[in-house]
Amino acid sequence: PENASIARIGEVLRDHQSFVLISHVRPDGDAIGSQLALGFSLMAAGKSVRLINEDGLPDNLAFMSGSDKIELPPAEPLDVEVAIALDTAAKPRLGDNALHAASKAKIWLNIDHHKSNPSYGDLNFIDSSSPATGQILYQIITQLDLPLPAETRDAIYVAVSTDTGSFQYPSTTAKTYEMAADLIHRGLNVGTLNSQTYDNHPYRRVELMRALLNTLELSADGLVANWELRDQTRIDLALLPEDSEGLIDIIRAIRGVQLAVFFEELEGGKIRVSMRSKDKRLDVCRIALEFGGGGHALAAGIRMTGPLEEAKALVLAAIRRHIEAAGL
Ligand code: 5GP
Ligand code: MN
Ligand code: MN
Repeated sequence: PENASIARIGEVLRDHQSFVLISHVRPDGDAIGSQLALGFSLMAAGKSVRLINEDGLPDNLAFMSGSDKIELPPAEPLDVEVAIALDTAAKPRLGDNALHAASKAKIWLNIDHHKSNPSYGDLNFIDSSSPATGQILYQIITQLDLPLPAETRDAIYVAVSTDTGSFQYPSTTAKTYEMAADLIHRGLNVGTLNSQTYDNHPYRRVELMRALLNTLELSADGLVANWELRDQTRIDLALLPEDSEGLIDIIRAIRGVQLAVFFEELEGGKIRVSMRSKDKRLDVCRIALEFGGGGHALAAGIRMTGPLEEAKALVLAAIRRHIEAAGL
């Protein structure tokens, strides 16, 4: 399906009074940032807004102003007219409880930047050229002349900064920097926000790095690096789900490595696979789709059944096939 125009999205926002905004399970900075960005803009416009997430607010994003508005899904469906899915590549990634909480909504809006997004909303705005959902929301909010309060301003910045590896990935464009400049003109404090986002890790996260480094493997040709997180480590270090967020960038940064993979045992026996590519010819979204996952060309993920050894063998074999097909 085609994207709705921004004007049409504006009509839906204007013509309704009550909204629930939802982002994906295990939310990252772009997920929570997008909820806060649009949520506070709509609230400033006088709308009634609920912000829910299947897994609630992760500790590492609790510094974001207004983040106490993020709630776990209530047991009873909310009386809302419009549900808005943000930064969520596939509807089930919103989570069962969140979907139940939003089940009374008459209209579903789907705003995202994952190219694998199947446009599951009644109205969709999918822009896979955007490095973050936060940047799409900046475009929508400014184009529609919606309010841009401080919470929205800071949330957009954190959303885009975290999804671009601090404005480093190739998805970062002039538009991204122009947006950042505009947010700074509007009073955003770059030093404070970056320090809260990046220099604020719990000690156990660094202990986790040590544990991960002990499992690091590099393929014979040096193209693939992978490491893994086992249940026992999670227990020993009392880890929270968000503690591993972004750590894959450490092995992605190895010279010569074109593809980094992170295997993680989740509670309940599922395996989470994170992949990062440095080369568009090696499209990790396509690899993820083979296993029912999704994402972007250079960053994608899968949730699959265990045990870890089996998942690892299957994914590494698929990666090998794609490397050969890409002629790397
Ligand atoms: P991460 O590796 O940081 O968890 O995710 C990388 C990208 O892939 C993110 O944009 C994320 O939304 C997407 N992604 C991660 N895991 C899954 C998954 O299980 N299914 C789908 N469809 N997308 C995923
Ligand atoms: Mn995300
Ligand atoms: Mn995103």
